[in-house]
Amino acid sequence: MKTFTHLMQEVQEKGLCHHCGGCAAFCTAINYGALELGGDGKPRYRDQEKCIECGICYSICPEINELDAETQNLVSWSAPMGRILRIAVARATDPEVRDRATDGGVVTALLLHLFDRGRIDAAVVSRKVGPFQRRPWLALSREDIIDAAGFHFDTLPSISHFSEVYSTYSPSIMELRDVAQKTVKRATFVGTPCQINTLRRMEVLGVVPSEAIKIHFGLFCAGNFQFGPEERGQLEKIGNFTWDQVYKVNVKEELLIHLRNQEIRRISLEQLDFMKRFACQFCEDYAAEFADLSFGGLGAPEGWTTVVVRSPQGQELLSKAMGTYIEVLKLKETPLSSQAIREKVLEWSEKKKQTAAEHFHLLEKEAV
Ligand SMILES: Cc1cc2nc3c(=O)[nH]c(=O)nc-3n(C[C@H](O)[C@H](O)[C@H](O)COP(=O)(O)OP(=O)(O)OC[C@H]3O[C@@H](n4cnc5c(N)ncnc54)[C@H](O)[C@@H]3O)c2cc1C
Ligand code: SF4
Ligand code: SF4
Ligand code: SF4
Repeated sequence: MKTFTHLMQEVQEKGLCHHCGGCAAFCTAINYGALELGGDGKPRYRDQEKCIECGICYSICPEINELDAETQNLVSWSAPMGRILRIAVARATDPEVRDRATDGGVVTALLLHLFDRGRIDAAVVSRKVGPFQRRPWLALSREDIIDAAGFHFDTLPSISHFSEVYSTYSPSIMELRDVAQKTVKRATFVGTPCQINTLRRMEVLGVVPSEAIKIHFGLFCAGNFQFGPEERGQLEKIGNFTWDQVYKVNVKEELLIHLRNQEIRRISLEQLDFMKRFACQFCEDYAAEFADLSFGGLGAPEGWTTVVVRSPQGQELLSKAMGTYIEVLKLKETPLSSQAIREKVLEWSEKKKQTAAEHFHLLEKEAV
């Protein structure tokens, strides 16, 4: 039986671990207690003696292809970028939600809809706890959900007290610990494609606490960026701004730095390679292909969210919230078309898969 020791050899030592936290979350949620997230955000042994060699951490790691076919079957995945039942462009009807949101506030509006209808007791999100500090958060009220709207980056756990190094990645899966401990029965998970992928693998095996996640909201993801004082200075120079002018950061086709004076600084994602996490260069999933609903700013006008509906459950939720919690842009009345948005998402998805393939190829060559 392969265990965390093999994950260290096959995934971590090659730099492929993207800190989704799934392995540590499972081992903690079921109370084996052998693993924890280390100061650098990577999982590690907390107490190796407690490992019962169940092998689950190994099987659910998205970098291990053991459960690929079952996971694809579970969500009726199909090439080239997962199942798509519908693509819509939408925004929250509540102006307060729109004001706080990254794009159109659809994620927050749908969470509120689920919460107000009593369909979930909690949502795993990421929440602001300081000027540029965020934390994964188990939202237990509609106020918590509204508080968590927006694009968040986290301080790296090891140095969070100094809040100097930021990461656009939020280790939200670790909040599943609370889902298990607080006996939450029905939750929505909001996260990056890699996190959704891990959760689906847990679902394939039917392990805790995946059964509590009733609906999966995936966020488009071009990569995770980490920036300390040096990178922040570099970004200021590239974008011609200072951090004290910034009130919002967003990623679409470019990094968008919104300044308090309404100006937007645009920095191409290629220019950000110097701060991209190594493991993200091997990631193939841009549009959260394993989610029930995927969300991004790509393809949508400013202030709106592109929504990819991937499951009947996602379809039902979108339909029920339409006209009350969200409004859907009538694409026929705009220069946009659903086909053009689909092509844009496909272009970015294919680009990501191709880059990952090239990097894997280089890695194999180096190994040889
Ligand atoms: C790390 C990251 C990278 C992204 N990259 C792209 C991209 O390349 N292209 C693109 O089109 N869109 C990208 N997005 C998605 C985009 O930024 C919006 O989240 C999405 O369009 C939904 O907008 P909204 O206004 O409907 O969401 P909102 O209503 O603002 O809700 C956003 C939700 O996401 C949660 N959240 C915020 N930050 C994080 C985080 N770091 N990890 C997990 N959850 C978080 C919030 O708590 C909130 O619940 C990215 C998002 C993240 C978090
Ligand atoms: S107990 Fe199971 S999940 Fe925990 S480290 Fe060991 S093999 Fe992995
Ligand atoms: S499950 Fe996630 S955190 Fe654990 S080794 Fe795999 S990629 Fe890293
Ligand atoms: S690029 Fe992939 S591995 Fe990196 S944060 Fe996004 S989904 Fe996760």
